[in-house]
Amino acid sequence: MAHPLIDLHAHSSVSDGTETPTQLIRAALEAGLDTIAITDHDSTAGWDEAVTAAAGTGLQVIRGMELSTRDEWRSVHVLGYLFNPNDGDLVPETARIRDDRLTRAERMVGRLSEDFDVTWQDVLAQSGGVSIGRPHIADALVARGIVRTRSEAFASILHFRGGYYLPHAAPTVLDGVRLIANAGGAPVIAHPATRGADAVIDERMLVTLIDAGLVGLEIGHRENTDAGRATLERWAEKYDLVVTGSSDYHGEGKPNRLAEYTTSPDALERIIAAARGVKPVRG
Ligand code: AMP
Ligand code: ZN
Ligand code: FE
Ligand code: FE
Repeated sequence: MAHPLIDLHAHSSVSDGTETPTQLIRAALEAGLDTIAITDHDSTAGWDEAVTAAAGTGLQVIRGMELSTRDEWRSVHVLGYLFNPNDGDLVPETARIRDDRLTRAERMVGRLSEDFDVTWQDVLAQSGGVSIGRPHIADALVARGIVRTRSEAFASILHFRGGYYLPHAAPTVLDGVRLIANAGGAPVIAHPATRGADAVIDERMLVTLIDAGLVGLEIGHRENTDAGRATLERWAEKYDLVVTGSSDYHGEGKPNRLAEYTTSPDALERIIAAARGVKPVRG
């Protein structure tokens, strides 16, 4: 293959994607991918099914996760690749995040139900039950005809300034990077420039994260602004960071299409070399 297509950020129904891990693998094959990473929010529950579904297809599966973290009040997502899924520190921390995602979603629905005809049962019916989030609340609002799409819900009712938003528990970004690195994984900051030139982290924090084991930056992502990308590219060069590009596919839950951004084989090699938890699996 002249240009193997490598997409290192995709969600399944284990979190807020709309396709099962098996369906995600099929979609990856249809998109002509050489390599896909399954990166559900705060869960590795889709790993085995994805690897099984890829068996015999030639598709390479990178086992990963998108860890929810925070920098003060701001949400920061850290992609972790090829870490040990049984790590004694990471396992309880992701369980804590998922537990709090559940109570937080229930509390948000409590607020919402004062103004809209939506119940907690509606939301539970939309979730795969592992890692729940606002997208499942959005799906319940769509099912009730209150909004037309997830995106419409996120732009209005579920927006963090929409009046119903509540945060969920998450480690600091520094602790998150440490957890992934200590579990043998390669940490990469997801979509770091969704806020424009004001990247989610400042340069001083970046240096701290690199010292803690940060490997790369996801610069190719539809939500990074052009101004933000320019800053990130400068930092990547200066600190010799791995640069990735990925779709952040959520099935029908988001407009993002597989392979709309991709990662170079060299960058993937560096991620694999940095990790010592589990190996890539080629089906
Ligand atoms: P939460 O982590 O529960 O606060 O929900 C945030 C998640 O919702 C993000 O990780 C996105 O993957 C997803 N999301 C954000 N914006 C949208 C949108 N416009 N449409 C669908 N999903 C979205
Ligand atoms: Zn998501
Ligand atoms: Fe994210
Ligand atoms: Fe994501």
